[in-house]
Order: sequence, then C-alpha cells, then structure tokens
Amino acid sequence: MFKGGWTGRILWIDLNRKKYHHTLYDAHMALEYIGGRGFAVKILWDYLEPGTDPLHPDNLLIFAVGPLTGLPIPSSGKLVIASKSPLTGGYGDGNIGSKAAVMMRKAGIDVIVISGKVEKPSYLYIEDDKVNIKNAGELWGLKASEVHDILEKEYGRDAGILTIGPAGERMIRYATVMSEKNRAGGRPGMGAVMGSKNLKAVVIKGTKEIPVYNERELRELGVKAYRDIRSSELYTVWMKQGTMGVYSWCNENSVLPTYNFREGVFEDADKVCGDVMVRYKVEQKGCPNCNMICGMICESKDEEKVRAELDYENVAMLSSNIGVSDMNKVIKLIRYVDDMGFDAISAGSIVAFTIEAYEKKLIKADDLDGLKIEWGDADSAIELMNLILEKKKFAGFLAMGVKYAAMRLGEEAVKFAMHVKGLPITAYDCHIAPAMALAFGTCSIGAHHKEAWVISWEAKYGFDKIDKVKVEKVIEHQRIRGGMFETLVTCRLPWIELGLNLEYYPKMLTAATGVKYDLNRIFEVADRIYALIRAFWIREYGYWSREMDTPPKRWFEEPLTKGPKKGAHLDYNAYNKLLDWYYELRGWDQNGIPRRSTLERIGLYDVVRRLEAIGIKLSD
Ligand code: SF4
Repeated sequence: MFKGGWTGRILWIDLNRKKYHHTLYDAHMALEYIGGRGFAVKILWDYLEPGTDPLHPDNLLIFAVGPLTGLPIPSSGKLVIASKSPLTGGYGDGNIGSKAAVMMRKAGIDVIVISGKVEKPSYLYIEDDKVNIKNAGELWGLKASEVHDILEKEYGRDAGILTIGPAGERMIRYATVMSEKNRAGGRPGMGAVMGSKNLKAVVIKGTKEIPVYNERELRELGVKAYRDIRSSELYTVWMKQGTMGVYSWCNENSVLPTYNFREGVFEDADKVCGDVMVRYKVEQKGCPNCNMICGMICESKDEEKVRAELDYENVAMLSSNIGVSDMNKVIKLIRYVDDMGFDAISAGSIVAFTIEAYEKKLIKADDLDGLKIEWGDADSAIELMNLILEKKKFAGFLAMGVKYAAMRLGEEAVKFAMHVKGLPITAYDCHIAPAMALAFGTCSIGAHHKEAWVISWEAKYGFDKIDKVKVEKVIEHQRIRGGMFETLVTCRLPWIELGLNLEYYPKMLTAATGVKYDLNRIFEVADRIYALIRAFWIREYGYWSREMDTPPKRWFEEPLTKGPKKGAHLDYNAYNKLLDWYYELRGWDQNGIPRRSTLERIGLYDVVRRLEAIGIKLSD
C-alpha cells in the first residue's frame, strides 16, 4: 500500500494473555499523523479507555518511529515513547536516541503498543516478526546500565535495548526509559508505566530493509545535509561542548535555574559550566546516524572514578538548581539518576523543592527519616532519592511528583512547586522571559523546552517586549519541534543548533515516502496533533482552564533578588495577553479548549463528538 517510508505495521503485545499480532494502519493514518507522537496520540485517543489509571495494566505503552527514522540522513536514530502519564494524568511522551529506533525499522515495525501486565518480572525480545516474553527475574532490581551490559552481552552490540532502572520498577512517577546506559526518554513517567507492566527491558533486532521510495534522491539529500552540518561555522564549538555551551550564556542572561528557580544567576556557575566540563570529558557518544554527537561522557576526578553523560539540562538541574558547585559531585548525581532511571530534570526539581520546603519549615527531618538536606549537599540529595525509591514517609509523596507533594504541604508550597500540568520545568528560569514562559505554559505534555526553545531568540528580540510576534514564534517552534521532528522522528538539533535548512525535511520525507510534502503540509499535521493532544487532556480531566497553561506563581510574585536583572518578574497581565493571542492563533477558545470550527477544519469530527458526549461545551 505504501511506496516507502512507512512500513504500515503496528505490533500489538498483550502481556495479560501473552499474545501478540501485527496489524496494518491505513494511508489516512499515515497522511494525517505522519508517525512518532502523531501515531502515539492517535492510538491513545482511539484505544485507551478514558479515565484509565496510568499505572493500571490497561494503560498502553507505545514506542513509535517515523518515516525518516533509521534512514541515512542526519540524526535519524530516535524513537518516541508515549503513554497516559502517571505524573500528569494527561498525554505524556518523550524521545530517545537509541539503536532500538533503527532496529524497530529493520524489524518492519512503525509502532509497538503494549497492554496488560506480566505476572513476573520479564523483558521482551523482539526479532523481526517474532516476540518472546522472557524471564527478567535476575535483572529486576539492577541499575539500568547493568541491565544494558547484560543484555548487550546476550544479544550483541547491534541489538536495540530499552530498559528501566529501580525507579521504573517502583513506579516513581517521573521514572524514564533508558537506553545505552546514558540516554533517557519519557520524562512524564514512561519508565513507571513500563514498571507497572513488570517489564524491565525491551530488546529489538531486525534484519529487513527499511523501505524507501526514491533511494537515490534520499541518499543525495542525506549526503548534502551531513556536509552542511559539518561545514557549519558552529560545528567545532558544538563538538567541544554540545548543549553545555549554553550554561554560561544562561548565567550571563539571568535565566540559569538557581535554587529552585528562585534566581537566574548562580554565584558558582564558572565551576560547573561548559569550559569546566571539557576538562572532565573522556569520550563523546551519540545517537545512530548522527555526525554532530553531543553525548559528553565525563569522568569524575576524585578517588571514586565515575562516568556519566552530561548535557545542559541534567547539569543545570543538578548543579545551580540545587546549589551544587562541584563538577565531581554533579557527575556522580547524573550517574546515580541515570542508573536508577529517574528523570534527571525532575530529580533536580524534586530535590530543590524539598530543600526549600525544609528551609521554610514545611517539612522536618522526621518527615524524611531523619535526613537533613540543604543547598549544595549532593550526598544528601542522593540519600533523598534513595528515600523516594523506598517511598518512606513524606518521600512517598515526593515519589508522586512535585505537584502532589506541594498540594500535600499546602498553599505556601504550591507557590514554589516548579511545574506546569504536573511536569517539572526544564532548565530555563523565566522571571525575565515571557515568551519562554509561554512555551513552558503551552507545551503539550507539561513544562518542557523540547517543543519551543525560544529563549535565545527572545534574548535577541527583547525580553521586555509583549507582542504577537512572540506568540507566533512559540507556535512556529511548536510546529517544527513538537510537530515535525517528533513525527518524522529525527533529532531537532541539526536545525536549531547548527542551522541545517528546514527545507531538507519535507524533501527527505517526499523521497522516503513518495508523497509530495512541503513545510505547510507538515505544519497542518502538527496543528492536528496539538489539537488532539489537547483533546486527550480535556477528555481525561473533564475540563480545562487558563491556569493549566500558566507557569508557577514564583515567576510572577517573587522577583529576582540577585544579578543584573534584580527585581525582575513576570507580569500576569502581560502573560495573559500572550495567552489570549496564543489561543486565538491556535483556534482555541479563551479557556484553551479547541473550537468546534477548528476541530472540524482539521478533520477531527470524532473529537467534537466525543468531547461533547462528556459534556465539554465547544465554542463555534
Ligand atoms: Fe543524538 Fe545529540 Fe545527535 Fe541529536 S545531536 S541525534 S541528541 S547525539
């Protein structure tokens, strides 16, 4: 049916009945949703019973690739992991760079949908069309990196391996899925969903050709794109520091998350910035098919040699945001969270929240089994995470995420719980950055920069300006990053970091699939996906309000007390103006609910019907 690009196949695995089968999706699905998160949200919308507890066996765990995944084009070794999120209660997903992405394609599978639960710890071994459920008794309890080593030894270096750590097993709601020891994906608790199914790992091997419509054209485009990346004037700098290059920039611009996003500058930034990181770097790793690899493997320099992969997000959240200024300790913290399978960003957020709650006497040592914790104490941070793993006393609430823990402590704590829709904010302080705040507020899975990283643009455009241009930029980024890259599925960094021309992507998609694409056609798909994701949230929550698209009170009500931007804070009126424009441009009403006319224009008639059936009033 398909000329190339799509295999058309979905693998359904029912762990309750220990059965699996393949089905074919139709051209309508391919054209309307492209792949990756588009397929994931469509399947969740169609097949997940509304109101399902995310940690119940009936929840669906989805792995999805796109029509460009695994092809010989830049940075195409990524897959999307999606599910109803146990952290937010809404749609959750994340992408991960892994050989598993390429192996899914070689096994001729575009989507894997896992339902049910095995009674004993198990892992899946998928080889082309066959699926085996294997005993993981001896793997249960091990670190994600240990499991990777064992499975790699058994299945070979080319096997695609996805694992969870103890955090996933214990259903900590911000547990991620790990791959190749250092790569994490699925911040909104995709690791916990995997753990709830008693699934420790998924191993994939495939031997088939990935179907391509016009092989010659695709190869030529790939060769040119790789060449463009290498000849970027930023290439050398990028290869030195990767995303860590932004650390000092953030500090200089007062947007480095510091002390639980209380400040935007860190007095010890020069001890943990990119220039320091390079002195610890011992190796560089990357995702498949990437020629601008950004995995900076660093080794601590003290007695106990520990290696971890550093990037801006995990370093900022586990250094300035919790007051740690020793690179050795940062490396150890990152190794710890990756081994345990915690999302590093959420870990930095929950530790900072706990320290602040302790400081404000909202919790005491007794609540944390005698643990006293303060800014900069990396060892206590690890002890705290260990308590969270055991769900001891108040740590049981911390295991549910910063939103729930704050609600438990009351109104004062809610003000400094730094999340949107339950998902902790990633590493950009927004006291001075209203467009970036809007990006966090409207990100489709909760606060994440992955869909609209507009902060460097906003710095040049002017942090002070409040106008429609800013909103248009956020939506443009969401279409490109959250819509295009997450459906193709390929990495966004060649474009955003090294300026690879966006026009390559529709051309490559056309060459792969034989279907004529331009950027506008892809953006139409992106808008459909954003509306469907929003509809999914509304269906699960039964309502929607502007507050759910608004970042935490701290950025509005507690001005910065340090640095060149001392006194700065967000303004509610200005933010609401941006949000008004955002809803208007998206065709959503002033409560953030897609209008009937918008849903019908993009063909989501079924969404209209189902939302109205549960009593959601849709504006025209
Ligand atoms: Fe992976 Fe980094 Fe390459 Fe993107 S740029 S594909 S994240 S190694």
